[in-house]
Amino acid sequence: MLDTASLIELLAQPQRIVITTHHKPDGDAMGSSLGLYNYLIQQGHHAQVITPTDYPQFLNWMPGNGDVIIYTDNVAKADQLIADADMIFCLDFNALGRINEMGEKVGESKALKLMIDHHLEPQDFDDYRHWDINACATAQLIYTFIVEVLGRKELVNADVASCLYTGIMTDSASFRLPNTTSTVHRIVADLIDAGAPNARIHELVYNDSTEMRLRFLGHCLANKLQVFHEYNTALITVNAEELKEFDVITGDTEGIVNYALSISNVRLAAFMVERKDKVKLSLRSKGDFPANEICKKYFSGGGHRNAAGGTSSYSLQDTVEQFKLILPKYKNLLIQ
Ligand code: 5GP
Ligand code: MN
Repeated sequence: MLDTASLIELLAQPQRIVITTHHKPDGDAMGSSLGLYNYLIQQGHHAQVITPTDYPQFLNWMPGNGDVIIYTDNVAKADQLIADADMIFCLDFNALGRINEMGEKVGESKALKLMIDHHLEPQDFDDYRHWDINACATAQLIYTFIVEVLGRKELVNADVASCLYTGIMTDSASFRLPNTTSTVHRIVADLIDAGAPNARIHELVYNDSTEMRLRFLGHCLANKLQVFHEYNTALITVNAEELKEFDVITGDTEGIVNYALSISNVRLAAFMVERKDKVKLSLRSKGDFPANEICKKYFSGGGHRNAAGGTSSYSLQDTVEQFKLILPKYKNLLIQ
């Protein structure tokens, strides 16, 4: 393990740095990555963000977005950068399986691996760790890494602040989740003071729907929502034909599960979407219901207590049946 003093010494000289984050990056994954990127480039480092896959269009306005490489679009160049890197920052994930085929390359690279993350049960692949499961977002940890660990608050400029604000805003469901503590609000206030245009960021992220996306949401709510009242659980499923019919692109399904959770008695909401050879699940819960336990136990996934995900190799219909069989096991927690 690298200690903080040695890390600070290393970062005093320009380094070749790769920053990566999880498969299908969300607002926190991209906000953390580009927030750190905008910090590092001010110090003359050669920093490169590489994402394992594409990400939603409503995140492409962030400063530095034009310099991001999507691994699957540019494998040779990305592999070279990973192999040549002095340091690889792994943000908002803690198991190499979460970055798909990039995981093997990152594991093989001689670079120092630095994990900054807020997920449970980190895998042991890193040389330095800034990790706290109580953080509401990895972006919060990027802020404390820069300000408290490295002591460089003056380098949190408007670009860094805008990216970190986006990460915290999206992962805390717009400052609503229980882990949005007063400390988080103080950090957010600092980010606004540093130049994050908060109202504009809400516009850019949340008011960027196409007409088709809104109609797709309407379809999900009007035609696809099932409520299992006896288990205070709601489910929305989407099949491959519907994805085609509504021209669904990356990011269009994000947040739909929260509508199911917004029903007053519902404690657990699930969204299932039929992808190429698997079903992707997103679970959300209220209070202390452990959505991540279900994802880990039954759907090869994980996440946080109130927001978790996983996959199933069964058909959509069979996955729904499996999900319905799981609910009785959690009846006590669901109906309290
Ligand atoms: P989402 O439902 O938005 O895809 O993911 C919600 C949360 O669950 C995120 O914190 C994400 O990191 C985690 N998550 C989603 N899918 C997976 C998965 O397949 N494996 C693991 N370990 N975590 C996941
Ligand atoms: Mn996160």
